Amino acid sequence: MTDPHSDTRDLDGTDTDQLTLQNPVTRYPAISPPEQHQDEPGLESRTIPRPDIGQHSYRGTGRLAGRRALVTGGDSGIGAAVAIAFAREGADVAITHLPAEDPDAREIVRIITETGRTAIALAGDLTDPQFCAGAAHEAAQLLGGLDIVVNNAGKQVVADSLDALTDEQIEQTFQTNIVAMFRLTRAALTELGPGATIVNTTSIEAYMPSPVLLDYASTKSAINNFTKGLAQQIAADGIRVNAVAPGPIWTPIQPTDGQPKEKLPHFGHNTALGRAGQPTELAPAYVFLASAESSYVTGATIHVNGGMPSP
Ligand code: NAD
Ligand code: MG
Repeated sequence: MTDPHSDTRDLDGTDTDQLTLQNPVTRYPAISPPEQHQDEPGLESRTIPRPDIGQHSYRGTGRLAGRRALVTGGDSGIGAAVAIAFAREGADVAITHLPAEDPDAREIVRIITETGRTAIALAGDLTDPQFCAGAAHEAAQLLGGLDIVVNNAGKQVVADSLDALTDEQIEQTFQTNIVAMFRLTRAALTELGPGATIVNTTSIEAYMPSPVLLDYASTKSAINNFTKGLAQQIAADGIRVNAVAPGPIWTPIQPTDGQPKEKLPHFGHNTALGRAGQPTELAPAYVFLASAESSYVTGATIHVNGGMPSP
């Protein structure tokens, strides 16, 4: 029998859908990823083992029929899983990605197109104010409108001490995770109408900051605050704003210095379920918050973290 803690097989082969009764402990193995490194932003296709973004398993039930969605960082990891789930639920989807992630983005476009939905990939850097605003308007123009915005792109790089944290990194992390979210959301609001939804990606790090992720964890806390404040500001317009707070999820952000390399083999083992989460396990929370089912939910954060105690 395979030792589940040394299982490094690719995980994207499973075809058991998210609606089938499963034991959450054994739905995925407690992976021990080998120590590995990629330069930022990293590629899903080079991540070992290959994460499960639901391409073979996510089953849609028409919950987002006819919607038009923009997902930042939709080329890999959580954003890719969300983009695929949205398409399977009946939405047309635009994703943003960095130019270096073109191979990953093309693969997501292929998967979405295969489901019969429209897929658009917008390449650019979200720390560029013009790209931020342009992405919102271009997505709306190419999809014929916009109903859903998922702010998901993020930068996470460890630094041992405050002293080791450069001004450049602090600024890049805040530019990517916070300032870009302000700019892109501001532009998107000119395209959104009643019934539209915004979903932001925060983190368990907003509540349990890791000592080596001071800049990143601070931005994740700010994302929660932004979510709650904006939700109140635009509730009367019929637009809801919520967040998802993932725990340890196996994505390219981890081997691109998102974790100390030597910690990768134990990644996620400290959760109550004893394993890392896979990107596709996040998708149903985003679908719920993006759809009309969550009509009385705004300013909320859904925790998808394998049972790490959170407020
Ligand atoms: P990922 O690397 O697959 O996705 C992050 C994406 O952010 C990249 O694909 C890239 O396209 C985008 N990005 C980064 N910098 C950018 C920039 N300057 N301009 C444009 N795009 C940029 O990793 P992921 O884990 O799926 O990350 C998605 C979100 O989930 C992030 O906000 C991350 O903070 C959050 N999150 C991840 C975890 C986890 O354990 N993986 C846990 C909590 C929160
Ligand atoms: Mg990527």
